[in-house]
Amino acid sequence: MLRQLTAVMLAMATGLAGATEVPEDPLTKPIAEEFAKRKWLTPIPPVRIFGNTYSVGFEGLSVTLIHTGKGLILVDAALPQSVSALEANVRSLGFQLSDIKYILSTEPHYDHAGGLAALVRDTGGQVVASKSAAVVLQSGRAGPDDPQFAELPEFPKIIDVRHMRDGQKLRLGDTVITAIATPGHTAGSMSWTWQSCEGESCKTIVFGSSLNPVSDDHYHYGAEANRKATDKFRATIARMRKLRCDILITAHPAQSGGDVKFRALLANPVSNPFFDSAACRNYADRHEQLLNERIAKESAAPR
Ligand SMILES: [Zn+2]
Repeated sequence: MLRQLTAVMLAMATGLAGATEVPEDPLTKPIAEEFAKRKWLTPIPPVRIFGNTYSVGFEGLSVTLIHTGKGLILVDAALPQSVSALEANVRSLGFQLSDIKYILSTEPHYDHAGGLAALVRDTGGQVVASKSAAVVLQSGRAGPDDPQFAELPEFPKIIDVRHMRDGQKLRLGDTVITAIATPGHTAGSMSWTWQSCEGESCKTIVFGSSLNPVSDDHYHYGAEANRKATDKFRATIARMRKLRCDILITAHPAQSGGDVKFRALLANPVSNPFFDSAACRNYADRHEQLLNERIAKESAAPR
């Protein structure tokens, strides 16, 4: 009798615990939760940037949506824990998640690619990245060629990634997106460019990958062993400087003044602060200076 009673009580207790616990979703499990919230995930209202191109991301992390007339394309996915807010932003613009056909990835780091796996599950969209980024996305962890290798958290991996080469084009509906390989911040970094029109007025939009020369404690941009990678980084910056670029969106908005532009756009949508034909040049100049400063610091005080 006592044994029976204990069994019943145990079953009740388990049942109760089961009722109150929310089952954990491995694809949206937070990464660096407090840090990410403070630094990147302040909400901003979803808004049209120009033509068929919308912002559906956050104050510190860009996620861009392109409405092609035959489906949607997302650029970047932010973090696992921000997927539900991102999806709510897409819906609040009147779009359906199931219309997302492609999700383009700028870099295989958890803050831009961490949400990809959940988004693929929820939308059925195809992830597209450079070949070398795809290797990282498919394992969920960066390789030792990544300047931040020792400090990077893992993120949910994506099984099926389509590769695109530099200069290759992706077509959907009325939109053609060109891949621009921009290695440096990561070896697989890719930027994306497309044209967007409002009536007769057409603008070239660039979604620029991060160009900031950050690293773990071991990596030196000026080291002989990394000479090839740093040469590529310089070539990326030179290329960014010369891109045709009427509107620049960067993976982290603040790295190109995008945070200020968003606030201005929300305050006064009539004069669009994103029209800035010097934006890519300024982005390149700023990051060339940061790279030079970084290398000077390394040689002044080798770590
Ligand atoms: Zn990064």
